[in-house]
Amino acid sequence: MTAIGLYQHPDCSRHDTGWGHPEHQGRLRAVMDALHEALPELQADVEPIVPDPATVETFEDVHTAEHVERVRSVCGEAETRDELIGLDADTIVSPASWSAALAAIGCGYAAIDAVSTGRHRAAFCAVRPPGHHATADRPMGFCLFNNIALAARRALERPDIDRVLIVDWDVHHGNGTQDIFYDRSDVFFVSMHQHPHYPGTGAATEIGRGEGEGYTRNIPQPPGLSPAAYVSALFEALDEVLATFHPDIVLISAGFDAGVDDPLGGFTLRPDDFAELTRGVIERTRSTARGRVVSFLEGGYNPEELGRNVVSHLFALRDATS
Ligand SMILES: [Zn+2]
Repeated sequence: MTAIGLYQHPDCSRHDTGWGHPEHQGRLRAVMDALHEALPELQADVEPIVPDPATVETFEDVHTAEHVERVRSVCGEAETRDELIGLDADTIVSPASWSAALAAIGCGYAAIDAVSTGRHRAAFCAVRPPGHHATADRPMGFCLFNNIALAARRALERPDIDRVLIVDWDVHHGNGTQDIFYDRSDVFFVSMHQHPHYPGTGAATEIGRGEGEGYTRNIPQPPGLSPAAYVSALFEALDEVLATFHPDIVLISAGFDAGVDDPLGGFTLRPDDFAELTRGVIERTRSTARGRVVSFLEGGYNPEELGRNVVSHLFALRDATS
């Protein structure tokens, strides 16, 4: 067993939004460059894995057939015309975006399978496009499909996993993930995000609906607080959630746009703070999830800062799950 699985796929880097777009091809390159520099210290504990892409038959229950068809046909059109096409003002697809999306989701599936069967203690999916804004029926906010929601659904198919905790510390609210699980009690969604900010949702009053009431926890925060204030706000909320919800596995929407130098957010976190968040989530859930954590790259739009933060997150994943 290698401690940490690093799930990646070359197709994820081919998703092209144009260099003027914040979610550009250089992001993953920056992550891989930073990881390469950290390799001497990490290589005994981190295994890079390139899994098979997902197939759309597995999207049922998470995305509508109309949503899948719309994304597929616009990606196909981008391929035919060999140009970039906007699904909305900021969600762009290119000829390679369809295969990138399937590769990203395949990384999540393989990571869930490996962590839940004990091949790795934890996993990080270095993927794009990101996923947490994609709702059941709509791509938005740079996201085509909801990678983490699909992974959570995959985890729940396993006989030993009945409850999934999703922790989302991206600076933007994970509206898509919230939407997909809003009326369910087997997935608890906890999000800390800048508010008010894109996409506008994520007020503390949004707590779930029907059977899912009480299974969504939003922690809206202003920009510009100290890092310690953000860290303790998330931990206080998590402590309350975990008093009654006992997850079998933990998924993280790791948005590094909560970093201090990110152009798209006003949070102030530095590499050590992301490490503390990582350790805190793992320690708080260890008694039931037994350190089983699968983390997904979401935002992070200052490439150099993103690289540093991912490395810090991986070291913390390794150390906290050992
Ligand atoms: Zn974000």
